[in-house]
Amino acid sequence: MLSGGYKPCAMHGFSYKNGALHCENVELSALAADYGTPLYVYSGGTILDHFTRLDAALAGVDHELAFAVKANSNLSVLRLLVTQGAGFDIVSAGELFRVIKAGGDPAHCTFAGVGKTRAEIVYALEQGIYSFNVESEEELRYLNQVAGELEMVAPAAVRVNPNVDAKTHKYISTGKSENKFGVDFEKIEDLYARAAAELPHIRLRGVQMHIGSQLTSVAPFIEAVERVRPLVMRLKQRHGIEFWSIGGGIGIVYQGSLESGDPAWWQGCLPEDLPLTIAQYGAELVPRLKDLGLRILVEPGRYIVGNAGVLLTRCLYEKKGAAKTFKIVDAGMNDLIRPALYEGHHEIVPLQQPVTDATVAVDVVGPICESGDFFCQNRELPDFQPGEVVALMSAGAYGFTMASNYNSRPMPAEVLVEGDTTTLVRKRQTLEDLIAGEL
Ligand SMILES: *Cc1c(COP(=O)(O)O)cnc(C)c1O
Repeated sequence: MLSGGYKPCAMHGFSYKNGALHCENVELSALAADYGTPLYVYSGGTILDHFTRLDAALAGVDHELAFAVKANSNLSVLRLLVTQGAGFDIVSAGELFRVIKAGGDPAHCTFAGVGKTRAEIVYALEQGIYSFNVESEEELRYLNQVAGELEMVAPAAVRVNPNVDAKTHKYISTGKSENKFGVDFEKIEDLYARAAAELPHIRLRGVQMHIGSQLTSVAPFIEAVERVRPLVMRLKQRHGIEFWSIGGGIGIVYQGSLESGDPAWWQGCLPEDLPLTIAQYGAELVPRLKDLGLRILVEPGRYIVGNAGVLLTRCLYEKKGAAKTFKIVDAGMNDLIRPALYEGHHEIVPLQQPVTDATVAVDVVGPICESGDFFCQNRELPDFQPGEVVALMSAGAYGFTMASNYNSRPMPAEVLVEGDTTTLVRKRQTLEDLIAGEL
């Protein structure tokens, strides 16, 4: 998929060529000039490459990749994945609407989330989704009631909380009993038995789990699969379930250096010495899953798109304080909230390759009236100047989808690069857009 001078293991489409940072074959400074900043840029080749690699790693088992739409829901990104035969994991009616608009098949959609509304349930039932992934007994009973009123049968799986520590940031850890997600491991069989006896408008089609996001070790995945597998086999025997979704959560590399000489530092192509590689994920999980006679669903979000996107932002001012130097840029936490929300790390890379190794310690901050509005603090970076554009790397997942209009800032544009071709896939919002819908 990746054309041009990419090294075989480089899975991301971002590299310096002749001193200028490119996305695939397109120079990023040209995109900043043409479309303005802040600007999200996605590499289509990287998305396809990551999808294909995960698919290949799971080749030994009957499986389906259901892309977690909340990571990146741009219609053009979804369309790319539709061409690869992806399914989709959705968390709202809005995401299902997007998948359908992108040409996706609802019969390959699973619907997750702890708070589905009646309107969402009705819409998803009418569209014929593959499964409601239910997060509580109360929700299962409500689903049965709504399906009954429509004289339909709702396909469902209950999310089991395996009580495994994913060893990730506390805000993105979901598989411990103190998290709000899923039903306690010990209560699942009883719930399936009662549902089979009492809920005629539910078809128990599968079972689901998802222990957290940005996992950087394969061990918690193994632990969860080992712990839940005997339960899944009993559910298959008693209730004839046909699928087991093992969730998403595959971590990516955010930290590294374009100058380190290692082309694999932050892309999903993890160097051999990293704790989690996609080959290892497949090698450890496939043998544990392949003889169950079940269809295995995987719900990757970040892994598919995280390293496939950057956010371009222009430096506006340099402000030298008594204690610190601030580089003030035109992107803010409304455009990319990961640092503020999760202490997320993004490499900050000048579009023009620095000619020296010299660095300065700076805070890169946005224009928003919040002290949490920073992209890094006290980080050694090349001394980029006002007027220059830098790239916030690995911003393809939970970037634009979490953007907001806070401070009445229009949301940024998004472009998709495929080889030599650039497509504007979302227009920058205008000031008029900001007030559309207000009365
Ligand atoms: C968020 C989420 C995912 C995707 O997580 P990633 O870490 O982006 O792979 C998958 N399944 C469920 C239920 C989720 O909530």
